Amino acid sequence: MEDIISNDEQNGIKFVWNVLPSSRADATKIVVPVGFHYNPIIKNENLSLLEYEPLKCRCGSIISPLFNYSTRSKVWECPFCHTRNSFPKAYSEYISDENLPAELFKQNNTVEYKLNTKQANPPIFIFLIDIAIDEDELNQLKESIQEIISNLPQDCQIGIITYGRMCNVIELGSTDFPISYALNGEKSYKSFEIQELLGLLVRNNNSQSGGTFVNINHRPKFVMPVSEVSFFVNSFLDDLQPEGWSKEPETRDSNCVGLAINTAVSILEAYGNNECSRIEVFMGGPGTIGEGKIVGTDLKETIRNYIDFEKKNPNTKYYKPACTFYEQIAQRAVMSGIVIDIYSCCLNQVGLYEMRTMSSRTGGYIIFTDSFSTMIFKDSFRKIFSLDDNGYLKMNFKAKLHFNCTNNYKVSGALGHLFSLKKKTLLSSDLVVGEGNTVEWALGGINPSSTYTFFLDSNDQVKENIKTVIIQLLTTYVAGDRSWRLRVSTISRRISNPLETQNALNEIGNSFDQEAAAVLIGRLCVDNNFKGEDSKESLKWIDKTLIHLMSKFAKYTKDNPNSFSLTSKFELFPQFMFYLRRSSFIQSFNESPDESTYYKYLLLAESVQNCTIMIQPLLFEYTAENPNPIPVYLDLNSLRNNCVLLLDTFFHVVVWHGTDVMKWREEGYQNQEGYDNIKQMLDDPQDYAETILNERLPTPRFVSCDSGSGQERLLKCTVNPSSDSKKKHSEEGFFSDDVDLKVFMDSLRKLSVSS
Ligand SMILES: [Zn+2]
Repeated sequence: MEDIISNDEQNGIKFVWNVLPSSRADATKIVVPVGFHYNPIIKNENLSLLEYEPLKCRCGSIISPLFNYSTRSKVWECPFCHTRNSFPKAYSEYISDENLPAELFKQNNTVEYKLNTKQANPPIFIFLIDIAIDEDELNQLKESIQEIISNLPQDCQIGIITYGRMCNVIELGSTDFPISYALNGEKSYKSFEIQELLGLLVRNNNSQSGGTFVNINHRPKFVMPVSEVSFFVNSFLDDLQPEGWSKEPETRDSNCVGLAINTAVSILEAYGNNECSRIEVFMGGPGTIGEGKIVGTDLKETIRNYIDFEKKNPNTKYYKPACTFYEQIAQRAVMSGIVIDIYSCCLNQVGLYEMRTMSSRTGGYIIFTDSFSTMIFKDSFRKIFSLDDNGYLKMNFKAKLHFNCTNNYKVSGALGHLFSLKKKTLLSSDLVVGEGNTVEWALGGINPSSTYTFFLDSNDQVKENIKTVIIQLLTTYVAGDRSWRLRVSTISRRISNPLETQNALNEIGNSFDQEAAAVLIGRLCVDNNFKGEDSKESLKWIDKTLIHLMSKFAKYTKDNPNSFSLTSKFELFPQFMFYLRRSSFIQSFNESPDESTYYKYLLLAESVQNCTIMIQPLLFEYTAENPNPIPVYLDLNSLRNNCVLLLDTFFHVVVWHGTDVMKWREEGYQNQEGYDNIKQMLDDPQDYAETILNERLPTPRFVSCDSGSGQERLLKCTVNPSSDSKKKHSEEGFFSDDVDLKVFMDSLRKLSVSS
């Protein structure tokens, strides 16, 4: 068992409880839900890539070292349906305990198969360009798109749609002059109507929907291989100008982004065959006309904020119809193997709050920044389209995950950027959490960080006393090299004795993983918040969970707070909850719905390690005495004159210099002999920040600032989040109403030990 858990990390598996409760009732007793995080295609140096077909049971499970097998009688048993399978001849001829196939090596409870299935076709990309923006912004965007297209593998197919008052679909390379098909941005179109208008479909007589697709040779060419149209597209982009309609005064630009996305999806649906494809939505402003608009064109009407929802203001009337519209698009995209990436590059909100489901359900990226000129946009876009050593895109498509399990447990659902395929079986629990009622999910454009949280439910109907659970996760996807892959992870966990004895409780307590638990709780809050729960409810739930958990697992004598102590398995957990309570995932301080949507989106996307940083940011101190990074408390007292600090919130990286350090730097100590330590304390945090910026996607915002500068606000807000709102009243001081960690811990002790 220990061996198996020890390679969890490289296989991307993290359980909240590593010993599972034996019944539903026991699961409630241990307070924090039973579940695990899974990062299916995590980068793993030791992964065995097997270039042959897997041995499959008739129920669909794949052989694993955790299954029972006999090299002597040449059979293996499926733990899920109990079928005894014979090894095929190719195996049985040579298999012995000394000569096992790679998929039965003890350490290979995760392997990846490169399947013999026919390779996928080169992917299709449709770029949706906002032309209701000013010329500088459009030039920045054009430049980035041109750079990406020039690096794309030549056989990839591309398409261009521009949108503003009209939605223009560009026919590529038919003549020297671009022909575009224009759709009226104010109008609503059904998919087949768009296809008909674009000459992709001939409507059957009297038919309300459907029709016959035009033969591929006679269609207008909306998507074409890069090799054939890169010159044309380049010069088209060179000449592309902002829409520049003369606007009425006091109005917003007309922007029909909803129609543009609908059009792109309709085109890809018509090209059919469920090809690998991605829609890149570049947004310099919110949708203001047609379906999916977020705000009207009248400038007197402001874009919805949290306060508008609280007060039920009239400008929130677009919210529900927009959500419904984008949700429908999201589901169509899932069914056609399309991934949707949204680049929100605008000082104001563009509507991520309403639009996020399109990226979430298809496994796409959301990039959030002020302008197309920022590094956050340019660099993140580059990373999404980066190539591997063989010149293939590092991009995956059409991922799907299948859950299998011994019948003593069931799956309640999952959280993360996935979509339930509603494949309900005896293994899908009626207690639904997140995307449930299924054992299969679409993951779409999975990436190496994509991490999903699965919730488990004990199956109390099973009476046999089986002390282990075996879970198998099968992830199929199209890899960058267009081959079909199958990643197989097989996990086994022990089941505890009924929690009637202190021994059983201790055993389960010792199996607790506090990081995994903090991330699971954070994700549950975010999911509930997206479903409409307000932050007060989340706070109440976090507090209740924390107090109950502590009173269950801390050591103390009743009503004596001083006797309270925690084992190492729990000691960080209260702190995680303290930081979670005041994070953007729960509070919305001065954030807009779009900004907090972006943060929440990433908490549902990233690895447990990264999510832990989002919940409790890292702060490192560098001093002349010790120029190596030392972790320090997220506290205003850590902002000392003689140190350099590096703050990593995952979204932002801040390097901050104290006043003494600024002086030393100005006097140039770092360039003098004998002051290597000063040089090192100045250089190391910058180097470290650069490493983070290079690796992370989306690229975080980077700030290098000095004490007293305006830019230190980011750091001060993180160490003391209430400062931002307080600032309105007094420029000085960072007095905080909300409790500090010490007061928080003191009251936690009191509450946990009270009888
Ligand atoms: Zn089976």
